[in-house]
Amino acid sequence: MSQDATVVTDLLTRRFGERLALDSLTLSVAAGEVFGLLGHNGAGKTTAVRLLNGLLTPTSGTASVLGLSPVDHGPDVRSRTGVLTETPALDDRLTGRENLRFYARLFGLSRHEAASRIDDLLDMFSLSDRGDEHVSTYSRGMRQRIALSRAMLHHPEILFLDEPTSGLDPVASREVQDMILMLREQGKTIFLCTHNLEEAERVCDRVAVLEQGQVIALGSPRELAAQVSPPQIEIEVEPSHREAAASLIRESWPNVLLGSDKEATISLGGLARADIPNILRALAIGEINIYQVVSQQLSLEDVYFALHKRMVDL
Ligand code: ATP
Repeated sequence: MSQDATVVTDLLTRRFGERLALDSLTLSVAAGEVFGLLGHNGAGKTTAVRLLNGLLTPTSGTASVLGLSPVDHGPDVRSRTGVLTETPALDDRLTGRENLRFYARLFGLSRHEAASRIDDLLDMFSLSDRGDEHVSTYSRGMRQRIALSRAMLHHPEILFLDEPTSGLDPVASREVQDMILMLREQGKTIFLCTHNLEEAERVCDRVAVLEQGQVIALGSPRELAAQVSPPQIEIEVEPSHREAAASLIRESWPNVLLGSDKEATISLGGLARADIPNILRALAIGEINIYQVVSQQLSLEDVYFALHKRMVDL
């Protein structure tokens, strides 16, 4: 993954009258990264996408997208980004292909370029066999895939996807998430707004958690889990080795042993991530037979609720 930043914001802020929709957003998204902006309804996600595409002007702060200011170079930014809005409008009376053809012309593609690009996209999104049917006959997942194709017609370098699976059933959601993972494989940078924590965990390299316009946490799902609660692991050892294993760990890591049960599972908590391989190495050198190591990492959902609770308790 290239580390060149494609989206950079510095204290980006937007007010609507008294309401602070986005408060001092500061982040940097690397090229090829799937970056998630996570937050419940009204947290400020759509406002961020609109600011980053020059569709709103900030009250204060700055943004740079592909090295350009969205305020000063909105059309240039939008010619290099693709945006999938929360409720993309498609013309039901047209076929999927006709919808795409219409937008291809708006994006300035020639008839010839449009025809081959649309074929490629229908193929990429597994819609080649349905492209000539009216959109009114499509499932919601198919409509979303056409909308995603539309956002990609002009070969955007960054895709902004605002709640792309909102209102989709689990199967259709999965399809769209698989498309996101496929685009990631192709090296696209994706800025994904979602309130679906499972989705973020599945597809995002890093996430920023937004709460009332403010970022309250930023990092990979694993880093956020470690912030909320240090890693915990359970190590199952040969029952006759349990005592030796526990005292070996106690000697070098006095504070991590949470307990061991008669099944010979040793629970460790309050660990630094780097402790884990060191402990396993020490046990192996001590000739302790290890049968299983289970990580008790929190899900992004656990993390989100823990962060939310901290905010409420403040
Ligand atoms: P959702 O998931 O519901 O789309 P969101 O995280 O995208 O939510 P935004 O749409 O960015 O949230 O809204 C953030 C806040 O700004 C909300 O309180 C919203 O009511 C307010 N807001 C957004 N656009 C406007 C506007 N044009 N005028 C007034 N208030 C607005």
